[in-house]
Amino acid sequence: METRIIGLTNLFSASIVLEEPWYIRSIETHGAEVHVYVDIREGNMLPCAECGEMCLRAGYEKTERVWRHGDVMFYPCYVHCRRPRVKCKKHGTKVVSAPWARKNSRFTLLFEGYAMLLLMDMPILKASRLLRCNEKSLVRILRHWVGEAVEHDDLSEVKQLAIDETSFKRGHSYVTVVVDALKRRVIDVEKGRKAEAVIDFSYHLESKGGSCENIESVSSDMSGAYRSGIEYCFPYALHTIDKFHVKKLLLDGMDEVRRSEQKEHTSKILHLGRRLLMIPDTKQSVTQQEQTNALCKKYPKTGRAYRMVQALDIVYASHSYEEAQERLKSLCSWLRRSRLEPMKRVGLTLQKNAKEILNVFITKLTNAICEGINSMIQAAKRKARGYHTFEGFSSMIYLIAGKLQLACPNPLRLWE
Ligand SMILES: [Zn+2]
Repeated sequence: METRIIGLTNLFSASIVLEEPWYIRSIETHGAEVHVYVDIREGNMLPCAECGEMCLRAGYEKTERVWRHGDVMFYPCYVHCRRPRVKCKKHGTKVVSAPWARKNSRFTLLFEGYAMLLLMDMPILKASRLLRCNEKSLVRILRHWVGEAVEHDDLSEVKQLAIDETSFKRGHSYVTVVVDALKRRVIDVEKGRKAEAVIDFSYHLESKGGSCENIESVSSDMSGAYRSGIEYCFPYALHTIDKFHVKKLLLDGMDEVRRSEQKEHTSKILHLGRRLLMIPDTKQSVTQQEQTNALCKKYPKTGRAYRMVQALDIVYASHSYEEAQERLKSLCSWLRRSRLEPMKRVGLTLQKNAKEILNVFITKLTNAICEGINSMIQAAKRKARGYHTFEGFSSMIYLIAGKLQLACPNPLRLWE
């Protein structure tokens, strides 16, 4: 019995953006694969791949090329073509570009667009299984589209920055992430976490229309490397150390106190209480507050360290710069006189960075913005897990948090 299929060729043509003089010669199935053979009609002038000038035809490329296309009824689909050549007066003999793929890619544009959609939402390993395409090829696709969008990025309006480090390859390598604090998007990812990373960013900024002299404020952690990079590159910027990093310093100090007190008492309860103590008292439930009070009473050193952490929130709740300055000063002296080694060290670090910590009361960089930026970077980092090279990891951070304008086609909008 004969089966009639109507309109399938047209659908294929649309999905690989075929227009005259290109046409589909045949569609065949070989085993569990679908193969689409594309040809081009004789006799037309065609555009040179370099300059776009219409030129006379000059035969075909030597061998047929194959591109992977989106699956058809869950079977892998391939597009075949021997592309024609033209003789350009300026560029000599050139192969005509196929409208369904970008130069040097073994995938159709629509396949790449679909791959980008998947990469936004799932780990690379999973995307690679669903697409039946190896991870290396996926990273190449990702790098191309992200790289192209970054190339056209406009940084001329950037005035406020947040700079932070993040690790990859299980903590063996670091990258520096630069965020436009006002637009809340990642604008650069650089190798390493030294002053050079900040300097490299400054070149990137200026090459994309921005200016180092326009930078009004920069927030970062307390590392000396960032500090010197920031002072060198952004002479007019107010440097702020954001609350997130100050708080982390105190929490780490408290945890060290807890661990040593735990050893003294060989206490399991204190170990179980470590998460409880990380919750600020204002955000604890009544039961949690009771448990914390009991824990702090029984273990006085940890208890004191916990109260010091809470005192930091009081510094940040100040209504003026002067008030905050006063409160930070008394917190520092409390820490230094605490007879708890880790807290004493924290006190000294805070004192050394007091000016930058208090700058937050001058800049308009609110805690909400800093926290938002931090959670954005964390989300990007989770998605970038599984990328083993700097290029893959940084492209993923850009894709998730860069708010980029990607030029690849979206296959879900084919019928719009
Ligand atoms: Zn040309």
